[in-house]
Amino acid sequence: MGQYQKRIIDIHNKRYSYQDMERDAFRLRQRYSGLLKVESFGQSRQGRRLYCICLGNPKARKKLLVDGGIHGREWLNIQLFMAILEEYCRKYQTGIYRGIPYRRLFQKVSLFVVPVLNPDGVQISQTSRPRWKANARGIDLNRNFEPGFGRGRETRPGSQDYGGEYPYSEPETKALLRLLEAVRPCGVLNYHEAGPLIYYTSPSAMLDQVAGVSHYPMVRETEGAYGSFGDWLESRGIPYCTLETCRGAAPVKHWQYYETWYRNRKVWLAAALSFW
Ligand SMILES: [Zn+2]
Repeated sequence: MGQYQKRIIDIHNKRYSYQDMERDAFRLRQRYSGLLKVESFGQSRQGRRLYCICLGNPKARKKLLVDGGIHGREWLNIQLFMAILEEYCRKYQTGIYRGIPYRRLFQKVSLFVVPVLNPDGVQISQTSRPRWKANARGIDLNRNFEPGFGRGRETRPGSQDYGGEYPYSEPETKALLRLLEAVRPCGVLNYHEAGPLIYYTSPSAMLDQVAGVSHYPMVRETEGAYGSFGDWLESRGIPYCTLETCRGAAPVKHWQYYETWYRNRKVWLAAALSFW
């Protein structure tokens, strides 16, 4: 039935915003109640709600976390995430991936999707300073973790690279840690836009699957920790990979959406299946 309805996510919107995501998340939940859960797990510095959308069995033994929008200017991925969620919902009852029905796959390995961790930064990028990466206080959330905190050269708040006064100082970072504590994911797909490539530190079955279906080249990180979310995941032994989805510096032109969609539409299925 769902397959013949008009899609909720407008993939031609060239400036898909936090507000668009919030509205569409609730529309998806309404249309696909029973498949999707939408929960707020905290607030940004300026009071915007942070959302996690769960697809499939929320009590599954294995849970895959997908996060994006740590950097303000990387908002194309918000639209991508919402479109992938809608696609999986539409095909939930009939879709099959490598011989496994979607509904069985997501019963066993559910998805926990954070479309945007830094909504204030997105707002800044979309309204006044396009290249802005940090949160509203000028702290780069992807430098606000341990290990490796404070290794960057930037010592003052600004658009990028300043990690803050101390680790986990920001409400967005704290909220993500609380979410991780609650979800305890078996793996994490950590999305950015400065690619196209995949960064990784340790090899994993998930990484192989993700690289296989996306055709992004894999690049091993060898510089050591620098306070990123990936460094935190590595230190906890959680399999993860950092997908840099687009070409050039964000914000990217909207035409990149279509290739990004084709490269990523099966990535979450492939990653989930690697934990099957
Ligand atoms: Zn980034």
